[in-house]
Amino acid sequence: MSAAAAREISGRAADAATDPLVRVERLVKHFPVRGGFAGRGRGVVHAVDDVDFKIARHETLALVGESGCGKSTIGRLVLRLVEPTSGRIWFDGADVGGLSSTALRAQRRRMQIIFQDPYASLNPRMTVGQILREPLALHGLAPGRERERVAELLQLVGLHPAHADRYPHEFSGGQRQRIGIARALAVEPDLIVCDEPVSALDVSIQAQVVNLLTDLQDRFGLAYLFIAHDLAVVKHIAKRVAVMYLGRIVEIGTRDEIFSRPRHPYTQALLSAVPVPQPGLERRRIVLQGDVPSPIAPPSGCRFHTRCPYAQPICSEREPALETDAAAGTGQRAACHFWRDIPPAGAVAVHHDAADDRLQRLQAAFQAPTP
Ligand code: SF4
Repeated sequence: MSAAAAREISGRAADAATDPLVRVERLVKHFPVRGGFAGRGRGVVHAVDDVDFKIARHETLALVGESGCGKSTIGRLVLRLVEPTSGRIWFDGADVGGLSSTALRAQRRRMQIIFQDPYASLNPRMTVGQILREPLALHGLAPGRERERVAELLQLVGLHPAHADRYPHEFSGGQRQRIGIARALAVEPDLIVCDEPVSALDVSIQAQVVNLLTDLQDRFGLAYLFIAHDLAVVKHIAKRVAVMYLGRIVEIGTRDEIFSRPRHPYTQALLSAVPVPQPGLERRRIVLQGDVPSPIAPPSGCRFHTRCPYAQPICSEREPALETDAAAGTGQRAACHFWRDIPPAGAVAVHHDAADDRLQRLQAAFQAPTP
């Protein structure tokens, strides 16, 4: 082999190691809706609008936001379970939109999903063994040793090989979610879209499932797109966090940047509801006014302006870009005209003593000299 060819091959290997596993550019998904008399009224649900992000290999990117903000639609777009209106998605360097049906089937093996409702996602008429053998047969994996592979998968998720002969209704919610995880692992994926995987579970079970997902990630080098509305859960698993509001990403950064120094007013409001696990500290609660506007007619300019406590006239006129703060020297980005001026203290923990300033003022008034 020539030196040039060897350099090219080693260069490609280095690119494969450093390139993101998933790259999403200018992703848009609009769903047409019909209504009114004889279905003549028309509109468009702006589910996802102009979204960009990357997921590195072995990384967890959390997508957070209120229900209806478009985060689950993004998960389905990445897996190409729904077609985008526009924009592009690359998976391991391949343009997912340009794949033939054969190539897409091969690609799908490497991208799996875990659903929110484990019971609804498991066929009640199949045993757990049949459920786990199905993806193996579909992709021609473990031929001749399916039984052993099913036993391995059950043990990987903390279940017993004997559970293969039982039906989904014989398991608890947490165990059913473990079966869903085993089914996703069966095809040895690189990426798993976790769509609210713990929100239907009890808090103690949530922690067990999150710990299991973390262990499996370390063991198999998985990447997760973790879709959630519960920031307390996200804090335990995410490496980076993207916050969505009405179809757009309004802030993205590392977990520490988002949790310790949220810059967008919407992120600050979301985080203000998360308890601080430290005695003597609490967050200053920010209560947003009004409801989330309809995605059929999103507000002009900044979509958050109808609820933002910092809104100015320009906010309804011009849409803010998702920008980095060059002065801060981090990769954190926020979409707000005024985010550099808004104090990040909106969601920073404060001492209980300081919070009770009414009492302090009263004491000071008693101690002040009488005129
Ligand atoms: Fe609030 Fe204006 Fe910033 Fe939007 S652009 S988040 S309305 S201050």
